[in-house]
Amino acid sequence: METQIFNSNSDSKPSTRPVQIGPVTIGGPEFTVIAGPCSIESPEQFLETALAVKSAGAVLLRGGIWKLRTSPKTFQGLGNDAFAFIKDVLKTTNMQLVSEVTDPRQIEQLNDYVSMFQVGSRNMHNYALLKELGQTRKPVLLKRGFAAFVDEWIKAADYVVMGGNENVILCERGIRTFETTTRNTLDLNSVIYAKARTPFPVIVDPSHAIGVREFVPALSLAAAAAGADGIIVEVHPRPEQALSDGMQALTIDDFSRLMKKVESVLTALDRPLQKL
Ligand code: PEP
Ligand code: MN
Repeated sequence: METQIFNSNSDSKPSTRPVQIGPVTIGGPEFTVIAGPCSIESPEQFLETALAVKSAGAVLLRGGIWKLRTSPKTFQGLGNDAFAFIKDVLKTTNMQLVSEVTDPRQIEQLNDYVSMFQVGSRNMHNYALLKELGQTRKPVLLKRGFAAFVDEWIKAADYVVMGGNENVILCERGIRTFETTTRNTLDLNSVIYAKARTPFPVIVDPSHAIGVREFVPALSLAAAAAGADGIIVEVHPRPEQALSDGMQALTIDDFSRLMKKVESVLTALDRPLQKL
């Protein structure tokens, strides 16, 4: 059951297979916006961000529990301490959560809290993790490895699909190139290609792609214009105090302004924005 890569002359290009996450559909006609903090830091920070992104129009919440940081000396996420309050926040806001699973041993525990498992860029090649996620039926957001070929990314998705879980969404989050001016380089080619040649919905993470708050909105609009199925954006009520990725976090006001612009771009392209 390998993902079929159709050649450009083929008549039978795959159409996107939408993935359902509670009330949200990714990969249908509507554009999906997922937002929230890089890391869940405290009950107050998580609730404040969740309420704000929901009222600005995000339909799914993001938030890291275990973080794969470059240095082990930096904040590694709240880990188990986050489970004390996550359910309360989701209930209060009536939102569903996507959060990263960094180790196959976390799947069972995380299963009760998340509606979609995120596989981070550093774990795209972790085939043991992908195979385990293939045994679940829960949606998997598969980020592209920062040095992975598009072909490797698509084949990584097949590890999940071949376990019997077809609910895979691809996420382009920027790659390493010779250019180091910004954090990474968003490869919109990969989005256009994966949309045309695979059945998976494809979303963009502009936050990790560019790494600079000021530039995140432009990249988000570019993703919408390029035909992505959605975006996943980092937002923090006080980015200067964030425990991870503060430089790229949009403030709540930035995010509200961005949502209006996203809707304008979508309107120009005759595409609806998904609302709760
Ligand atoms: C994240 O989403 O916070 C994250 C760590 O992303 P990536 O795996 O793309 O670096
Ligand atoms: Mn982050």
